[in-house]
Amino acid sequence: MGSVATEPKGRLSGKNAIITGAAGGIGLETSILFAKEGARIMMADISAPALEKAKAKVQQLVPNASRVETMTCDVSKESQIQAMVESLDSWGGLDVIFNNAGIMHARDDDAVGTPEDIWDLTMSINVKGVWYGCKHAVLALRRHNKTKGSIINTASVVALVGSATPQLAYTASKGAVLALTRELAIVHAREGYRFNSLCPAPLNTPLLQDWLGDDKTKRLRREIHLPGGRFGEAIEQAQAVLFLATDEASFVNGHEMVVDGGMTKAYVTPE
Ligand code: NAD
Repeated sequence: MGSVATEPKGRLSGKNAIITGAAGGIGLETSILFAKEGARIMMADISAPALEKAKAKVQQLVPNASRVETMTCDVSKESQIQAMVESLDSWGGLDVIFNNAGIMHARDDDAVGTPEDIWDLTMSINVKGVWYGCKHAVLALRRHNKTKGSIINTASVVALVGSATPQLAYTASKGAVLALTRELAIVHAREGYRFNSLCPAPLNTPLLQDWLGDDKTKRLRREIHLPGGRFGEAIEQAQAVLFLATDEASFVNGHEMVVDGGMTKAYVTPE
């Protein structure tokens, strides 16, 4: 008898999923988890070399993954998102998209100090990128006559509470993600398309850690707000994204999934 390759059976078996920002902290952990749970995945990121490294990591950790593809894509360019989403048409169309790519620029500041070009750049990636992802997901789900689909958009706790140090463009962009996700959840509910947002607290990922660097004051101003005394890990976000992506979450729509170790419920003072 010949050997038959066994595809992983899991909570996302048979689903086609796109993950943007797939080479970064949350995106890579989510890609690994989705692959382990049986999804066919398209990993998208603006950085081609980082994407290749990320793909190798998924393949190493999940050797029996159903399908792992990559595509370089700048989410702020609609034509690139469209091409990426349409590339899944030959797989049977997407079932899940995790619109996760985002930036927090080092020159982002307060009302006075934020340069206009940084404001525009942040909005075009963090907000327009998410809109384009949602738009082309809806078009693809309709094209394939799907009666269910899951769209998960990465916002942040700063969409819910003010940041201790100013990062105005970023904060405004994440507020927009939360608001647009909520509205889309209602607009598309009768088509069976669920839209939920993820609100991570500060994490141990390059996005934040590169920005904090060895600036102890900046770091402490964030750490102090975390009841457990630590930043979150990307895998802890990925676990929440996995739930939202699966049919287990079939009645979870328009939800703000706050994964923050209790940060937004805390009143913590220095010891
Ligand atoms: P990360 O910097 O590790 O990963 C982000 C990825 O997005 C990178 O691989 C980057 O190359 C990619 N990217 C940047 N611009 C892009 C573009 N125009 N098109 C496509 N890809 C692009 O960051 P992360 O922590 O994994 O962040 C993922 C998401 O989580 C972001 O939306 C971020 O705002 C959000 N978030 C992060 C934290 C945190 O503390 N790390 C907290 C709250 C929310």
